[in-house]
Amino acid sequence: MEDCLFCKIIAGEIPSKKLYEDEQCYAFYDINPQSDTHFLVVPKTHICCAKKITAKNSAVVAHIFEVIAKLTEELGLDSYRIINNCGEGAGQTVMHLHFHVLSGKNLGERLV
Ligand code: 5GP
Ligand code: ZN
Repeated sequence: MEDCLFCKIIAGEIPSKKLYEDEQCYAFYDINPQSDTHFLVVPKTHICCAKKITAKNSAVVAHIFEVIAKLTEELGLDSYRIINNCGEGAGQTVMHLHFHVLSGKNLGERLV
């Protein structure tokens, strides 16, 4: 999608520190890490946010969670948090569905 930051990152038009890529999704390190490890996993197809997940496109979400399980195991991360912000009021700043994966010493028990 034009003018979408993450679509441009997936297309290689904007550089990123890639962690993993397959035909369905792209994983890369967050530019402004909030924990010792902080990466994002996004579908290659543009979906603006969790509100737009439907029976037709939801397979990629299951796939992303499989990829997160594989990547965290490879990285040796035993505990981690997966976050999706949906909508500006919840802190979503990039309108392309993405899952944050955070791990490290500063992860508390609080959700908010
Ligand atoms: P949100 O606030 O939408 O849930 O998360 C967007 C995330 O994208 C933020 O954590 C932010 O640091 C990250 N981000 C924004 N621009 C870039 C960029 O150009 N490259 C990378 N790697 N991450 C970005
Ligand atoms: Zn996009």
